[in-house]
Amino acid sequence: MSTTNEHTSSGVYDTIIIGAGPAGVAAAIYAIRREMKVLLIGKELGGQVVLSNEIENYPGISSINNFDLIAKFDQHLKSAGVETKISEVKVIEKTSAGTFKLHTAKESFETKTIIIAMGLIPQRLAIPGEERLAGKGVSYCANCDGPLFKNKIVAVVGGGNSALDAAEVLSKIASKVYLIHRRDTFRAFEELVDEVKARENIEILTNCEIKEIIGENKVEKLSVLNNQNGKIRELAINGLFIEIGRIAHTDLVGELVKRNERNQIIVDEKCRTSSEGIFAAGDVTQTEFKQITVAVGQGTIAALAAYQYLQLKQGRSANVMLDRGKKK
Ligand SMILES: Cc1cc2nc3c(=O)[nH]c(=O)nc-3n(C[C@H](O)[C@H](O)[C@H](O)COP(=O)(O)OP(=O)(O)OC[C@H]3O[C@@H](n4cnc5c(N)ncnc54)[C@H](O)[C@@H]3O)c2cc1C
Repeated sequence: MSTTNEHTSSGVYDTIIIGAGPAGVAAAIYAIRREMKVLLIGKELGGQVVLSNEIENYPGISSINNFDLIAKFDQHLKSAGVETKISEVKVIEKTSAGTFKLHTAKESFETKTIIIAMGLIPQRLAIPGEERLAGKGVSYCANCDGPLFKNKIVAVVGGGNSALDAAEVLSKIASKVYLIHRRDTFRAFEELVDEVKARENIEILTNCEIKEIIGENKVEKLSVLNNQNGKIRELAINGLFIEIGRIAHTDLVGELVKRNERNQIIVDEKCRTSSEGIFAAGDVTQTEFKQITVAVGQGTIAALAAYQYLQLKQGRSANVMLDRGKKK
């Protein structure tokens, strides 16, 4: 079995997992335990865990820093011998032989099954200045970029847990935080709302919408509309954190599998999609509850279901729990 980051594009894989967040990592670990030839391809290791802070709801681990959890994912993948590539799958083709060909910018791989674990990405505001100033003061990750704004003035836009969490984190780094929300109430945990309201350096602007992000080469100002009185004001800031939710970006597989109206992939209880040989797991599916434990559970199901699918195709037992796992 090849090891992490080794170049191996020869031979047909039993399964290729797209996305190396919690769902993809769990799927890879289970697939290799079933002695499948598996490749895990992800743009980065950890997925949205990179964006979170302290994880406090993983059974057996009362609290763990997000980067420590990702380091543990990495160690586990390496010790299990999972072949991992940090890359983006750009194109997927179905072959006449019933397999799939996956293409990254530089390499191509053939596989009998696919597990889609592409997760969610931050929703954009889609206003002038956003794209141009992304990475120049516009950020989608308070935990990653917050330290760049020590003693500066920042704004957070959004009204859910992520936005309030970001405002709270940033209030400990920046000198002032504006929390901008287009409605008059928040959709977040009550205690988090109370905590944010109690912070002296957070100014809450409700019923307000950002119309434009202004700046030459970096964020300098926001143009903010008060949707109650129609007045526009300009806020001088150094950074804007956009925390307005996350969306599924699944055009890559749009012609292969059925999706719902939110572009999430529809799966059944075995994480099977509408297309034979293609499975999906984690936040990218229609599952309502988007949590690490749910993603890990679905990753497990998808790997075992892919294994079972291949076993049945070869006329073998459908019992996935026969212990074919590698013994140490
Ligand atoms: C700020 C924040 C805090 C959170 N806190 C918690 C918490 O405390 N507890 C908890 O349980 N959950 C928390 N969550 C939710 C949790 O992070 C997600 O439920 C979980 O990460 C979903 O895992 P996933 O593997 O399904 O998807 P993701 O984590 O989104 O991973 C998907 C991966 O696939 C990659 N990918 C996408 N397309 C491609 C492609 N074409 N080629 C290659 N790779 C691709 C993406 O880049 C990404 O790395 C939080 C989320 C956020 C944003």
